Amino acid sequence: MTELPVRIDLHYDNHVHTCLCHHAAGTMEEYVLAAIKKGLRRLVFLEHMESGIDYFDTTWLSERDFDDFFREGDRLRESYSGSLEIGLGVEVGFNPTCRDELIERIGKRTWDQIGISYHYCRHPDFPYHLNLVSRKEWNIKAINQAGCDRILHQYFDTLIEAVHCLPGTLLCHLDAGLRYLPDLCFSQGHIDKVAVLLDAVKAKDMSVEINTSGIAIRGEPFPAAQFVKMAIDREISLVAGSDAHKPEDVGRYFDRLPDFLRAYP
Ligand SMILES: [Zn+2]
Ligand SMILES: [Zn+2]
Repeated sequence: MTELPVRIDLHYDNHVHTCLCHHAAGTMEEYVLAAIKKGLRRLVFLEHMESGIDYFDTTWLSERDFDDFFREGDRLRESYSGSLEIGLGVEVGFNPTCRDELIERIGKRTWDQIGISYHYCRHPDFPYHLNLVSRKEWNIKAINQAGCDRILHQYFDTLIEAVHCLPGTLLCHLDAGLRYLPDLCFSQGHIDKVAVLLDAVKAKDMSVEINTSGIAIRGEPFPAAQFVKMAIDREISLVAGSDAHKPEDVGRYFDRLPDFLRAYP
């Protein structure tokens, strides 16, 4: 067994959701039990926070949901203290027009992890925000109509802004934007923006997530190998997250991560 080229703790799932976000299944306790069954030592709930999004589904928690989240999280921490370390965190979907509101909402609570993502993009031709990580036909059509290349540029530009202005600790699924569009490819211009993004991540001493949900979607984790290499070159720390939206997906594909990490250029 050759040693991994980077340190990454595979007993630590840093990114799971629950039914509180309205598009995942399972209670917090069911995720805790799944993590214990898989032999994990630490589990971080990274629940969806969004502000000012116009969309036909709710895919995030309200402030009242977050109250319940912390109440139940504290109870679980106590009940399972001998078996599992439990972290209570947030996956903030950035919205440039609600920057101050997001900063205020984040600042109201104590989080074990503050993930930064960008899920919803505003485009003048459409009545709703476009969900950049959705497989729904409405989104795929709208993104194609708006122009895949342009939206990808906006995706990376917005993440750069988010890293600069939010108090984040972790950059989530770096290149997952437009993940359900077939034949998606990154131009040199996109790659240059990822370099700027990773420089910002490094300057803020944030980590980059290796998100194994990518393995199910495209056969390799998010981010792609070339971007992981760029993170490793900058000595950015990496953490593993399953992005589970059902309890049985906790720690999913973590056993395959060593092979991916050894194969990175
Ligand atoms: Zn989700
Ligand atoms: Zn996400």
